[in-house]
Amino acid sequence: NSRRDSFYLEYQPIIDKEGNIHAFEALARIYDKILGRISPMEFIDIAEKRHLIVELGRIILDEACSFIKQLQDKGWYNVSVSVNISAIQVLRDDFLTDLKFAINKNQIPSENLILEITESVYAKNLEVINNQLSKAQLLGIRSAIDDFGTGYSSLSREREIAADMIKIDKFFLDQLLLKDEKDLITSDIINLAHKLGQKAVAEGIEHLSQLEYLKKNNCDYYQGYFFSKPVVASKAIELLDSNDFKYY
Ligand code: C2E
Ligand code: MG
Ligand code: MG
Repeated sequence: NSRRDSFYLEYQPIIDKEGNIHAFEALARIYDKILGRISPMEFIDIAEKRHLIVELGRIILDEACSFIKQLQDKGWYNVSVSVNISAIQVLRDDFLTDLKFAINKNQIPSENLILEITESVYAKNLEVINNQLSKAQLLGIRSAIDDFGTGYSSLSREREIAADMIKIDKFFLDQLLLKDEKDLITSDIINLAHKLGQKAVAEGIEHLSQLEYLKKNNCDYYQGYFFSKPVVASKAIELLDSNDFKYY
């Protein structure tokens, strides 16, 4: 608590086919005076091991919902925020209560909240997670399978997952720069998502050539440094106001 000031969220835009910002992914940050910037990969992992992730997860969820409220107040009614959720959080009995609490406290439409859960977590706990996410869906909350393609879940089970979108891992975006188009399976992942009635989101887009491939293959949403790095809330709102992505 004493160091709460060094903890904050950054937001990275997720762009739709028309070049509008569809959503922001909330990414946790710690800046320490002595240690400098600490990666979320590092501190989320520590928070999980020290059993602090439930409390931290609630703080993150509240902060993200309060950003949705800010967006609503500024008239950005259709811009969603997507929040990364740890396995420990989603597997708890009180997860739905936490979601409802954050939504009610910040007085936001639940349709503007997206939950991101990494594929390896789905693969290990399919039934419990499906159950939780189905309940969240009844409230209007959407969900996404993060880092898709790296969790080694079998395809036969993939179709059982109750997610609204898949986020294609950066690995498959990097492949676009290395391989011949005929040897790529990135487009097959997009097709798989569509066959299952899900939207496909590509993350880690850094180059125009990657974007061109994705557009050609009908990918629904785009995220990466090519558009914008994660930025603080005030800068994220500036991005909405400037609407710079229309002409990429
Ligand atoms: P993730 O959810 O897959 O997030 C995407 C990561 O890719 C972010 O790193 C983002 O900054 C980075 N990224 C986005 N576009 C590009 C790009 O074009 N090029 C490159 N090289 N990287 C890009 P970040 O912020 O360091 O987060 C790393 C991971 O930490 C996240 O992966 C997520 O698993 C975890 N994480 C971050 N925030 C939270 C949180 O609030 N809660 C939980 N449970 N996990 C979090
Ligand atoms: Mg994510
Ligand atoms: Mg990811």
